[in-house]
Amino acid sequence: MLCDSYTAHRMNPPAIAIDGPAASGKSTVAKLVARQLEYTFINTGAMYRAIAWYLAQQGISAEDTDAIITVLPDIPLQFGKEDSTSTVLCGGRKLTTELTQPVVNDSVSVIAAIPEVRAFLLQKQREYNKNEPVVMEGRDIGSVVFPDTPFKYFVTASPEVRAARRAAQGLTDSIDERDKNDRSRSCAPLTQAPDALLVDTSNMTIDQVVQLIISDIRIKLAK
Ligand code: C5P
Repeated sequence: MLCDSYTAHRMNPPAIAIDGPAASGKSTVAKLVARQLEYTFINTGAMYRAIAWYLAQQGISAEDTDAIITVLPDIPLQFGKEDSTSTVLCGGRKLTTELTQPVVNDSVSVIAAIPEVRAFLLQKQREYNKNEPVVMEGRDIGSVVFPDTPFKYFVTASPEVRAARRAAQGLTDSIDERDKNDRSRSCAPLTQAPDALLVDTSNMTIDQVVQLIISDIRIKLAK
């Protein structure tokens, strides 16, 4: 099983791992932490979403695992960086609003459960940290992508707060189903790494969350 063959990652520049369920506030927090530290911000959800978007364009069903594994190496995706933030291009076209289309929201967690898809993106995710410090947000960053980093944060919020935040963004996708898929898959499920700091943002301002994480990073960096 591909998932079992992940080798422990040896860290060079600092890698800050921020994981959590959908609408927990982790993206906003990760972006602000990256800006304060002047590290590159990497949104790994966008990488899974880009694959889901491409497959939908090609008429390949999210359930057709064999077809997905076959086309995977030929998907014309480029993972880059602009203004210290990760970007995803497909056939030279920068993907932005495409990544939140309903077809993407509905299929991404099914596609993300395929071990070959995860192994393909894992490589690209680690490459971002080869020469520079990163703040990377996702579901398995502390558990799989950078298991050796001492900077791990699991950001969460109550279901009510998360639903309200999603509605305030004008988004109506079914985050419960996505979270259920993400938590229950066998390869790299959404989980709090045992050594991650749990940050429940339900009753905190964004600024409080950012400051809590930054001070923890600074203490660890000074050691
Ligand atoms: O972060 P975002 O909500 O955009 O992620 C979309 C989906 O991509 C998640 O629901 C999950 O299925 C998948 N994902 C993942 N592992 C990551 C990041 C995202 O499986 N590290």
